[in-house]
Amino acid sequence: MRRRSIVGNWKMNGGLATLAELDGIAAAAGAAPDVDVAVAVPATLIAPAHARIPTLAIGAEDVHEADHGAHTGCLSAAMVKEAGASFTIVGHSERRGDQHETSHDAFMKAAAAHRHGLGVILCVGELQAERDAGRAERVVQAQIEKSLPDDAHADWLTLAYEPRWAIGTGRTPTLDDIATMHAIARAKLRQMVGDTALAMRILYGGSVTADNAARIMAVDNVDGALVGGASLTAAKFAPIIAAAHRGA
Ligand code: PEP
Repeated sequence: MRRRSIVGNWKMNGGLATLAELDGIAAAAGAAPDVDVAVAVPATLIAPAHARIPTLAIGAEDVHEADHGAHTGCLSAAMVKEAGASFTIVGHSERRGDQHETSHDAFMKAAAAHRHGLGVILCVGELQAERDAGRAERVVQAQIEKSLPDDAHADWLTLAYEPRWAIGTGRTPTLDDIATMHAIARAKLRQMVGDTALAMRILYGGSVTADNAARIMAVDNVDGALVGGASLTAAKFAPIIAAAHRGA
């Protein structure tokens, strides 16, 4: 059975004062020992977050594909690792949208992160218009095909299915649609990397809250959640961690 994983994504939110939220998040993680809990934070908070709670997995929200060079304002995988990150998100829909990143960019970033020993959460997901046009499945299959490194392995890569129209909107797909998309993602992963795909976790992301987390995680092939808004406070995030806990 795959261990569940609950990952927070603070996006461009928080400061030193907000790190106190991590105390409650770590306590919730301690009460759910069968769940892998992690939080991706703004780059400025990686080092202080890691120093505050060394036992909690702290991640970056993005890395550059290059190891170093003339890339003003960017951070390499080695840099965020040195700061204390153990993983990074790549291909998040806000980077695909705001920074026009492609699946090939996500592929290069995932490879760079792996080169430097970071875990990777690779995000895929369709736009509303693509879903409306009946293309959601093909879009996600193509994103996986173009962004999954050839040597992807369950030990270091987690896929996150995040329909872009569900992120930060309070809207979620039906449970049937989530089941369909996760089954398609699993099949695509299996076609590309073989049986390690069976051990690879596929998270759902998009307006997950304490109210819907348990129902979503009960869906086949949903191995946890990538959570934005509801990860910013321990009060909202802890119940999601608790919902992932299968029991003693
Ligand atoms: C996300 O940031 O990946 C996300 C899913 O955000 P939210 O939970 O706020 O929809």
